[in-house]
Amino acid sequence: MSEEKSIFTRIIEGEIPCFKIFENEYVYSFLDINPACPGHVLVIPKEPASYLHELSPESSSELGKALPRICKSIIEITGASNYNIIQNNGSEAGQTVFHVHFHIIPKYPESTHSFTWKTVKLDKKAALELSQKISDNIE
Ligand code: AMP
Repeated sequence: MSEEKSIFTRIIEGEIPCFKIFENEYVYSFLDINPACPGHVLVIPKEPASYLHELSPESSSELGKALPRICKSIIEITGASNYNIIQNNGSEAGQTVFHVHFHIIPKYPESTHSFTWKTVKLDKKAALELSQKISDNIE
C-alpha cells in the first residue's frame, strides 16, 4: 500500500471538496466527478486499503450494510430502477484510484453505457479443480 494519501482519503479529510451523499464511522460516499450518468455515486471505506481483499472485516461489513441503503436512495431519487455496481481492483482491471471504491451506476432506458464481456465454455474438469482449490484456500 502506498504511503501517500489517496485522493479519496483527502476527500474524507475535507482537503478536497465533493458532493457528499453519506458518512458514518467506516464509510463515505459522494458523487463521481466524471459520471457515466446522473446519480453515479462512489461508496468507499474510510480505511485506506487499495484493494478489496485487503479490507478489514469491520470495513467490509459496514460497506455491505451501507451499499443497499445508498442504492435504494439513488433509485428512489433518480427514478432509475436498474443499476450496476462496479468495483475495480488493479490497473489492468480499470482501477485508477488506489483506494477501495464501489461505483453505483444507474441505468436509464436511454443509457448507452454497458458492462458486458465475451464468455468462454466452462471446462467441467478444470472447473472442478479450480473451484476446489479456491474454496480450500479461503482463510
Ligand atoms: P476507478 O477507475 O474504478 O478507479 O474509478 C475512479 C473514479 O473516481 C472515477 O470514476 C473518477 O471519475 C472518480 N474520481 C476521481 N477523482 C474524483 C474526485 N475528486 N471526486 C469524485 N470522483 C472522483
